[in-house]
Amino acid sequence: MSEYQFNTNCIHSGYKAESGQPQVLPIVQNTTYRYYDAADVAKLFDLESADFMYSRLGSPTVNALEEKMAALEGGTAGIATSAGQAANLITMLNICQAGDHIIACGNIYGGTFNLFNVTLRKMGIETTFIDYNLSKEEIVALAKPNTKALFGESLGNPALTVLDIEKFAAAAGEMGVPLVIDNTLASPYLCQPLKHGANFVTHSMTKWADGHATSVGGMVIEGGNFDWNKYADKYPGMVEPDESYHGLRYYEKFGNQAFCVKLRAQMLRDLGCTMAPMNAFLTFQGLDTLHLRMARHSENALALAKFLQNHPMVDWVKYPGLSGDDDYERAQKYLPKGASGVLAFGAKGGKAGGEIVLKHLKLASIVVHVGDIRTSVLHPASTTHRQLSEADQLAGGIKPELIRVSVGCEDIEDIITDFDQALRALQ
Ligand code: PLP
Repeated sequence: MSEYQFNTNCIHSGYKAESGQPQVLPIVQNTTYRYYDAADVAKLFDLESADFMYSRLGSPTVNALEEKMAALEGGTAGIATSAGQAANLITMLNICQAGDHIIACGNIYGGTFNLFNVTLRKMGIETTFIDYNLSKEEIVALAKPNTKALFGESLGNPALTVLDIEKFAAAAGEMGVPLVIDNTLASPYLCQPLKHGANFVTHSMTKWADGHATSVGGMVIEGGNFDWNKYADKYPGMVEPDESYHGLRYYEKFGNQAFCVKLRAQMLRDLGCTMAPMNAFLTFQGLDTLHLRMARHSENALALAKFLQNHPMVDWVKYPGLSGDDDYERAQKYLPKGASGVLAFGAKGGKAGGEIVLKHLKLASIVVHVGDIRTSVLHPASTTHRQLSEADQLAGGIKPELIRVSVGCEDIEDIITDFDQALRALQ
């Protein structure tokens, strides 16, 4: 556990230069590590040594990022992955096997919804999608003997809903399953789900963590707070001997870091969804300023949301930091330092209105992305969701006029001026 507070950890955790060493985390661009005694290599294969062996399984630059992110989330260990998608995939594969069942919120990122609903289903893992407003009792009532995990996003993308993490943690506790929270949109600066009872946190590091739109990546953080022995029958992979690792018992040997050791030893080994050192370096640099950026993103998003709310060419605004928003009270509790940088609004004129606004924006860029330092916009009805019928779009919460904005760190006056002139094109 770090002795420092959050902002200091953004800058200092994960890497410390010893005397005469580079002040900035070096990029170790390398596949393999030399040894002089085969016995030392044998120790690596027996997981008796934490040294590096082969970069698919871990390397110094990636390791530094894992340590920094674990410190920021208050976890015991982290595993970096090639993308956010891989982080959610290997978390679930580390918990579940064919025949198992997951309960997940329905208002999650579309890519994760597809991963659970299509790909995991093909692998024999079934998911029940639920409304995030269900009561604890209603969630627990959906548990089956084969239910192995509960999943939700702290701040839903793109629904911008705020999850009652403590309610979900209580439900998971009663079901005897781990609670996994995707904390991408909030970032650990705004919300630390482990402190509210979650057991694992996942991230698309591609978003706020990197923050400059340079690198795709993911992360799994272990809370070290799930007692696998108590539910040994349900999670044999954590407590029984691993035949692919000389009969190793992960929980017995690695305790509160066992989940991440198993992720590395089995999932990175078998699936190879490892983060590259260059991406780890760039993301590590991004995290150095996470605290500064998230404060500014949130401040700018709130100011833009308030401006849009009063604009004559705007029908509605969704931002959990706005008082009166359905998620406002939960945002005050779970995102006390700000409600993040993403908002959605509906311009007058339906789908055509949304298209006109995007066409007239000058400063804001049209990109399929959130979390960049530059203000970014997307009109899902004419881009990402254009293959769907309007009825299917509406079922997925995509109104024809919806414009999603990832509010950047530019001067707020310039951002507001840009949206104002683009909206005036509708008049
Ligand atoms: N989780 C959330 C909440 C996301 O928004 C995304 C991507 O937008 C992902 C996971 C997937 O991350 P990646 O694009 O890095 O694979």
